[in-house]
Amino acid sequence: MSLWTPKQTSHWSRPSVEILRTIFGNSAPDPTSILVTCWSTDRHAYGAYSYAGVGVTPADFNGLAGPVNNRLFFAGEHTIFNYHGTVHGAYLSGLEAAMAIGRVAGVLDSV
Ligand SMILES: Cc1cc2nc3c(=O)[nH]c(=O)nc-3n(C[C@H](O)[C@H](O)[C@H](O)COP(=O)(O)OP(=O)(O)OC[C@H]3O[C@@H](n4cnc5c(N)ncnc54)[C@H](O)[C@@H]3O)c2cc1C
Repeated sequence: MSLWTPKQTSHWSRPSVEILRTIFGNSAPDPTSILVTCWSTDRHAYGAYSYAGVGVTPADFNGLAGPVNNRLFFAGEHTIFNYHGTVHGAYLSGLEAAMAIGRVAGVLDSV
C-alpha cells in the first residue's frame, strides 16, 4: 500500500469524490490523503491469484491443500476449487486447515 496526495491521483480520485458527493451531497470534503493498493508492483503479490488453465481439474486445486507428513498444512484461495480466487475461499480454506490441525492434535474429533 502507498499513501498518495489527492493531487498525485487526481485523474481517478476526482471522479471518486464526485460519486461520493452524489451520495452525501456537496458537503463531502476533499480527501486529505489516499491509500492505494499496488498489487501489480507489490513484491509479495505482483497482482497474482490462482488461475485455472485448460485441463486443470478440481483435484489439482484440492491437492494443494494436502498436508505434508501431518506437520505442514496449507491454506489459501489456491487450495479450494469451488471458491478459488476469492477472499471467502481463502477464509474457508483457513478454517479447513485449522480443523485438520485440530484433528491431528487430537483436540477435534475426526469428521
Ligand atoms: C486486484 C485483485 C482484486 C481482487 N478482487 C477480489 C474481489 O473483489 N473479491 C474476492 O473475493 N477476491 C478478490 N481478489 C482475490 C483475493 O484478494 C484473494 O483470493 C485472497 O486475498 C487470497 O487470500 P490468500 O490468503 O489465499 O492469499 P493472499 O491474500 O495473497 O495472502 C498471501 C500472503 O502471503 C504473503 N507472502 C507471500 N510470499 C511470502 C513469503 N515468502 N514469506 C512470507 N509471506 C509471504 C503475501 O505478502 C500475502 O500477504 C482479488 C485479487 C486481486 C489481486
